[in-house]
Amino acid sequence: MSRLKESMCEAGAFVVTCECVPGRGPRGKSIDEIVEFAREAVSTRLPIHAISTTCNPGGNPAISPDILGVELEEVGIETLIHFSCANANRNTIEARATALARNGMQNLLVVSGDYPVGGYQGMAKPVYDLDSVQTLRYLKDMNNGLHVPGRKPATFDTLPQTEFFLGCAVSPFKLTESELMPQFFKLEKKIQAGADFIIPQLGYDVRKFAEILKYMKYRGIGVPLIGSVYTLSRPVARFMNKGMIHGCIVTDELLKKIEDEAEAPDKGRAARIERSAQLMAIFKGLKFQGVHIGGFGLKCADYANIISRSQEIGDNWRDYVENFGYNRKDEFYLFPEDPDLTFDEDKLVPVESAHRPRKPVHFMMSLLVHRLVFKEDTLGYRMTQGLYRLISKSSILSRIAYFFERQIKSLLFECQECGDCALFDLAYLCPMSQCAKFQRNGPCGGSTNGMCEADEKKKCVWPKVYARYAAIRKLDKIRLDYVPPVDCSLAKTSSWENFFLGRDHTAKKLQALREAKKN
Ligand code: SF4
Repeated sequence: MSRLKESMCEAGAFVVTCECVPGRGPRGKSIDEIVEFAREAVSTRLPIHAISTTCNPGGNPAISPDILGVELEEVGIETLIHFSCANANRNTIEARATALARNGMQNLLVVSGDYPVGGYQGMAKPVYDLDSVQTLRYLKDMNNGLHVPGRKPATFDTLPQTEFFLGCAVSPFKLTESELMPQFFKLEKKIQAGADFIIPQLGYDVRKFAEILKYMKYRGIGVPLIGSVYTLSRPVARFMNKGMIHGCIVTDELLKKIEDEAEAPDKGRAARIERSAQLMAIFKGLKFQGVHIGGFGLKCADYANIISRSQEIGDNWRDYVENFGYNRKDEFYLFPEDPDLTFDEDKLVPVESAHRPRKPVHFMMSLLVHRLVFKEDTLGYRMTQGLYRLISKSSILSRIAYFFERQIKSLLFECQECGDCALFDLAYLCPMSQCAKFQRNGPCGGSTNGMCEADEKKKCVWPKVYARYAAIRKLDKIRLDYVPPVDCSLAKTSSWENFFLGRDHTAKKLQALREAKKN
């Protein structure tokens, strides 16, 4: 068992992890300093539980955290490896996970990953073959001994078990109800898929952090929650304020404060260490199970100061809560205001939705067609299924039918012909054309004010999905239904034929439900 897991889950300790962001190239300041930092942390007995290393941060290539992790573990410090889904398909994900397990690295923070922003001789291909929910499930299956059907001899059809301790992320710093709620829904799916602990996005609004705890209590989720403490320097605050670090919110008011602090002779260093210590003390007071501390250029002495000052604050943490109320105009909160952060039962009831669900004509028409033709046990379904059985016997008829399907779906849904259709899962919005990261189980954390991380002129599709299901009171569909990864063997084939002939994920799910009913 990893020491981080033991501390968090067995000993119930308040853990501290330090986030390091390696750069490009095999050597250099941004890499060597991390190893130096680890050596100093070990020799000075810095009270931290793991060093966390990012994976292609900001969408740029960088040294693999897995390789750097080996060096750090050799120094004598445990690692928390960021496991991004951005640049690998599912086979590479398994290969990477297997290599990590082989090297004894068990703590993984599974994230969607930043969208690539550049690359060698042109922009890199964004892969996102699996989303974070599907990856967590995959890794959990590896922990249980991955079943490989058909492997011969039959005694070898289960792979040796791994022991991953799996973290996931969530971002409560979303402006509107329709942008925030899918974040919480996806968090539930991540826990269902096997996440063992949660690390939220960084932020400076304690009420938003507390809302994660409240949501977890409200839904009966009981996994450890680690608070994010980011030590904010002036240059980084400026970047975040301009929205250049996706999903990270620094309001104008906070930026002004940081700018003022930076005028001090120490360029604001003492002030930002104090802010981090206060936030750490608040997390401890709120019964988070640890902190994940990050910040550009932090030294061992800075971490030591943050930790010791937070201990000094101790039980007086409530005195500092008012320093962390940086929110935006019209920011949506799911729970009523609770300035004393008492978490009383009556404060755990979500506010009434102020959301005005709209029912776009396109959506209502799709719903109608679905009910007439794609809903099992309807006459339309049985007739169309019979028709596709006939069509599939002739390659010419199949091609003609597929030609017509392509025209219709491309016009109405901007279909990209993945063949394993998820329109039923996303309120008739196509994840392959409407989501830059092809997410099928909920949004990534990268949107800012409802706009897509990959294209700031385009709205994130997930608030639209939320609005549509809210309009027909079926939000549980995106809260509870796990959507499996695309079966790539179906690419460029008829999704309608695949559905009616039982080949796609929806048909297989219906089949499983039918069998469950029979038994
Ligand atoms: S078949 Fe795939 S690409 Fe086409 S609409 Fe459905 S999900 Fe989108």
